[in-house]
Amino acid sequence: MSTELDLDIATLVGEMEAVPCDLPQHGNHPMHTEEPASHYVRSHCQACDDDTGTIAACPGFVAAVRANFYGYCRICRAQHRALDMVTILGPVKS
Ligand SMILES: [Zn+2]
Ligand SMILES: [Zn+2]
Repeated sequence: MSTELDLDIATLVGEMEAVPCDLPQHGNHPMHTEEPASHYVRSHCQACDDDTGTIAACPGFVAAVRANFYGYCRICRAQHRALDMVTILGPVKS
């Protein structure tokens, strides 16, 4: 019998680093909350084909997406419903 299985899982995984919100409006827009990112999202503009790739977003932004607020493309400033533009990929912490 080995005692190595008793290793503390936390020492193997390490501390979870807080992931900051990647949205450029963070800190400038009241819908963003002063919290680490909670979800990964991806935003794609159907007007200019701008694609942010996978970015981290704070809970305030995720809540605004789920509420389907209007947002503006960062490149062409076209207005879209959030759910037409933003895909919530999944939580930061698995
Ligand atoms: Zn934010
Ligand atoms: Zn655009």
